[in-house]
Amino acid sequence: MNPIIILGSGLAGYNVAKELRKLDKETPLMVITADSGSFYSKPMLSNALAGKKPPSAIALNSPEQMASQLNATVRATTRVTSVNATAHSVQIGDESLSYSKLVLALGADQIRLPIAGNAADAIITVNDLDDFGRFHTLLDGKKRVAIIGAGLIGSEFANDLAVGGHHAEVIDIAAQPLGRLLPPQGGDMVREKLKALGVVWHFGTGTKSVDRDDSALKVTLDNGTVISADIVLSAVGLKPRVALAQAAGLKVNRGIVVNRQLQTSDADIYALGDCMEIEGLVMPYVMPIMHAARAMGATLGGKPTPVSFPAMPVMVKTPACPTIVSPPAPGAAGEWQVEASAEGVKSLFVDSSGKLLGFALNGAATAERAKLAPQLPPVLAVT
Ligand SMILES: Cc1cc2nc3c(=O)[nH]c(=O)nc-3n(C[C@H](O)[C@H](O)[C@H](O)COP(=O)(O)OP(=O)(O)OC[C@H]3O[C@@H](n4cnc5c(N)ncnc54)[C@H](O)[C@@H]3O)c2cc1C
Repeated sequence: MNPIIILGSGLAGYNVAKELRKLDKETPLMVITADSGSFYSKPMLSNALAGKKPPSAIALNSPEQMASQLNATVRATTRVTSVNATAHSVQIGDESLSYSKLVLALGADQIRLPIAGNAADAIITVNDLDDFGRFHTLLDGKKRVAIIGAGLIGSEFANDLAVGGHHAEVIDIAAQPLGRLLPPQGGDMVREKLKALGVVWHFGTGTKSVDRDDSALKVTLDNGTVISADIVLSAVGLKPRVALAQAAGLKVNRGIVVNRQLQTSDADIYALGDCMEIEGLVMPYVMPIMHAARAMGATLGGKPTPVSFPAMPVMVKTPACPTIVSPPAPGAAGEWQVEASAEGVKSLFVDSSGKLLGFALNGAATAERAKLAPQLPPVLAVT
């Protein structure tokens, strides 16, 4: 019998394998992954420095341990080059492997901005454990890090670097940190608390160029400011990895399009995680992966199960300013109602009838999460 093949060993790939094995211990299973195949929790990458955790402490299980735990074959450092949906096979260069069902858990790429300068290729991104290993090595003996992007990942790294003894300067075209998640008053609190840690912010400006200047990198901003840095880290957003699916003729939009059974436009190919799009939504966070993995594990185990997503608040790992967000659905009609004090900011997004559609909580207001979360509408209701 041909195996179920899972492409990708991130939280999506390994969690669907774990969920399948709860119901079905025997169906042949293979995980193929371009990276080292270690099991790790990606969110730990942006709070490891403060805790002085080296990359080796972040990898929780080796690929060999995962293979034995999952009764699966794990092929690490192996990049699948194409998928043939008609033949039910994946290609690794000249090698072809047949599958019974295929799961795409391919993740997303960090977006790279077109930045000029003779050191533009020195700009790094941290999107997996291997990237973090390189970042960790570069940081050795170095102090100054310029971060392009003040979103969730940029702000988390700024907090972590500052607590870990580094100097972080953050650049963003927006007027505040976490601009897509927080109204201005919440952004102000994050900005001030991280500033008190030593983070320097540059808002309302893009990054023009990065050049090497003796031993430092010179980062020139659109507003004329020049920052000297040892490392430039870009964190400006993610782009789902759709190329394999697109070349295989599957339906893709922003992400790989799936239905409520998490099936792509080919009934034997499934997708979940950062590469997936469902009902117009791309949700690059851990909780959607856990819900999708449970539903898909059951479906692959012979019990077809449609996925549903409750409201899934995200904790932003900026300990200097604890922050929890549950943004309203894209395009939702309503307005922010904000109560701000020195201790915290409570921002509620409500519609014209007063119904809660989303929230953003900072500082002491995070204590209200447990009370507010059950009032939120589900992201995708049970069908
Ligand atoms: C620094 C950072 C902090 C974060 N913090 C949080 C947080 O606090 N809370 C939260 O909810 N979310 C957080 N996220 C987001 C969350 O971590 C991701 O949504 C999640 O880890 C994505 O998992 P994934 O398995 O879909 O993708 P990935 O982990 O990216 O896995 C993709 C896999 O596909 C493999 N692959 C790709 N192409 C091929 C190919 N052609 N052949 C074979 N294998 C291939 C890769 O090698 C990899 O194993 C954070 C993200 C980052 C970068």
